[in-house]
Amino acid sequence: MKKWTKLKILIFTLILLGGAIYLTSTKVTVAEVQNYVSPLVPGYGLSINGKVLAILPNEENIDQVLDKYKNLQTKPTEGWIITSSDFDETVEKVLTNVKPSEIKTVDEVYNILVQGQRSAISYTVDENDSIWLIAQKNGMSTGEILASNPGLTEETFLPAGQVIKLNKITPYLTVVTIGQMVSKEVIPFEVESKTNNQLAKGVRIIKDLGEDGEKEVTYSYVEKNGKIISQEKIKENILVKPVVQIIEQGTQVVKNQEYDPESIANNTSHGSGSISGLIWPLNGPITSYYGNRHGEFHSGIDIAGETGQPFKAVNSGTVIYAGWHDIYGNMILIDHGDGVVTRYGHSIKLLVTKGQKVTKGQIIGYVGSTGRSTGPHLHFGIMINSKAVNPINYLSTSK
Ligand SMILES: [Zn+2]
Repeated sequence: MKKWTKLKILIFTLILLGGAIYLTSTKVTVAEVQNYVSPLVPGYGLSINGKVLAILPNEENIDQVLDKYKNLQTKPTEGWIITSSDFDETVEKVLTNVKPSEIKTVDEVYNILVQGQRSAISYTVDENDSIWLIAQKNGMSTGEILASNPGLTEETFLPAGQVIKLNKITPYLTVVTIGQMVSKEVIPFEVESKTNNQLAKGVRIIKDLGEDGEKEVTYSYVEKNGKIISQEKIKENILVKPVVQIIEQGTQVVKNQEYDPESIANNTSHGSGSISGLIWPLNGPITSYYGNRHGEFHSGIDIAGETGQPFKAVNSGTVIYAGWHDIYGNMILIDHGDGVVTRYGHSIKLLVTKGQKVTKGQIIGYVGSTGRSTGPHLHFGIMINSKAVNPINYLSTSK
């Protein structure tokens, strides 16, 4: 072989060799080269229940990660005093020798802790399960379940036996916090019911409105990762005492006949209906006149009064009804003869009974708000031969 040819082969071989070295070296990352070239370095492993989760440069860094995570889970709030916060798991720092690339920063390890351990599990739907129930059973939110099962909504009917995916997140670390908290709470007033035989049965008056009180309650609590798992009252301090509400219930039974419009009509006088000189049954402002009112016919006038205020018979006559009426409450009807009957409604207490003769101006009852009524007043009506007329036309002009 000629010298020249030998040289050619040598150059060719060198090119091939160089190319091969270049190709193999590009398949290796810089970090790998570093790892390959640099020796193992000491690091500190964050070990949870005996398993190393991550490696940090030193012990101080592990403490920083743990403190940051504790702060996240305890979230100090005003009025909350934390007495201790510890991990449920056994947490250790383990000295170890690792490749430099395996060492993580404080922020990296903190993020691993915050994200928790994700695991996908299959869940077989029980009979009568709903997304909400499944979430409850697995300590998840409905949103988390829907996120891992596209196409499902909270209303989707899930037949028993269907398999859905649950992406469960289990925290690596559980912070158990024990502390005390103070909260201001309402003390609801109590209601005391008394009977009053001066009030008609069915009548109920609030004698004293009552008022809520306020107290400062100190609780001891135990939290796990920010969720209260137990709470116990340890001190209570009353700031404002509540005031009892007092209700009076009427027990007086008005001994009278049942309201029977037919028999009343049959036993009522008929005549020319001539009346004059009627006095006002009650002195007070007229709050509602005779005639159409909100699409309903108002067969008399409403005179405002105070509960318990006496009202009078507008003329002499005979009581033909004194008792309960579903609309007019405790009601009196007086027949004045010649076809004239007067009506007195919503009374809290009736002072007359059926058959009783009354004189003009006689007190026959007390103003109330019984029956269909929104406040204490006297409903007063006049009927001539069983037909309602406008009372204003018959009452004397001076009250
Ligand atoms: Zn009325």
